[in-house]
Amino acid sequence: ATMPPLLSAIATARRHGVLVKSAAAMERLGAVTRVALDKTGTLTEGAPRVAGVRPLGSGGTDEARALALAAAAEQPSEHPIARAVVAAARVRGLRVPGACAFSSTPGQGVRAVVEGRTVRVGSPAGLLSAGVSGSGEGLAEEQLRGARAVASEIEAAGQTAVAVLVDGLPVAVLALTDRLRPGAPDAVARLHRLTGAEAPPGPGTGAEPGPGTGAEPGPGTGAEPGPGTGAGPGTGAGPGTGPGPAAGAGPEAGARTGAEAEPTSEAGVTLLTGDNARAARRTAEECGITDVRAGLLPQDKAAAVRAWQDAGAKVLMVGDGVNDAPALAAAHSGVAMGRVGSDLALETADAVVVRDETGAVPTVVALSRRARRLVV
Ligand code: ADP
Ligand code: MG
Repeated sequence: ATMPPLLSAIATARRHGVLVKSAAAMERLGAVTRVALDKTGTLTEGAPRVAGVRPLGSGGTDEARALALAAAAEQPSEHPIARAVVAAARVRGLRVPGACAFSSTPGQGVRAVVEGRTVRVGSPAGLLSAGVSGSGEGLAEEQLRGARAVASEIEAAGQTAVAVLVDGLPVAVLALTDRLRPGAPDAVARLHRLTGAEAPPGPGTGAEPGPGTGAEPGPGTGAEPGPGTGAGPGTGAGPGTGPGPAAGAGPEAGARTGAEAEPTSEAGVTLLTGDNARAARRTAEECGITDVRAGLLPQDKAAAVRAWQDAGAKVLMVGDGVNDAPALAAAHSGVAMGRVGSDLALETADAVVVRDETGAVPTVVALSRRARRLVV
């Protein structure tokens, strides 16, 4: 007996490392007309590491002390940044104190009480804006300015800056780096083609499953990501991606926020991230994405998805974390990347990529399209 095409496609997808939840979910995947990709953990490996600790000289808090306090506050968090901070403290052999009263804000950071002091670790945009510390003193203002300058330097280098505050005063800024997933540029090029958009020059050239005869891709039909050319970064010439103002400008310099997100018809693939604009643009260029929106909160990602869908698009959202759950839920179809730290992201997605391969995303969209053509 032959399996119905959608069920057969689910079986094939599973061999490519993608678990698709149902026939209806498989069908939705092929209907998408544009794609939104998260950065951290989706295009990048999502296992950043602490590349540097910059103490700000406040309150006698040196590099080791700042890292130990940050690790204490991050200990309960599942966020990749939190894992990196804890690992960095461990590698340096630091004693990490216990913490209580832990709380976290998706897309922003964490807060906990460590040795009787309130420690906050998170995005410079959220923690270093004037007035955030609540103390309003001249000293705090000066410390905040100094911390913003250091964060800006780190971000100008394409890294992710994370601020560490003790009792409202910034004591250090951490610099984190994350590696691109090797298959990401090729996956993006294939997604551009699948959404009918012109891929910018640069990244790989992997082929989609051809118009084969059966639902099973035969050997060598190209269902596997092709080798790709591994060519250099895209041009970054698309709308909204021009270089932002020089260092010292706001954390969202050069990138639009969710609130002002306008659907861009010519772009089929957009990068949505909570990270800073410069790190976002670097990853986007490496992957051949010209439409970038940085500094987004989880609800901003969802709002961007809704704006496109209100304009008639069917959006495929690809993400990995709790910060992507609202966007995954809002999208016509959602794919969660493996090793997901968040049950929420899993629950709201149509499919889960259990292998560490971004290339599985265009493969499963192509499988769905082929199966849909066979369903009559
Ligand atoms: P992305 O959209 O790239 O997956 P997130 O939305 O998870 O990123 O995070 C956005 C930003 O929020 C991070 O770049 C970081 O500055 C901050 N952040 C979120 N969670 C944490 C955490 N546990 N520790 C430190 N910073 C965090
Ligand atoms: Mg992520």
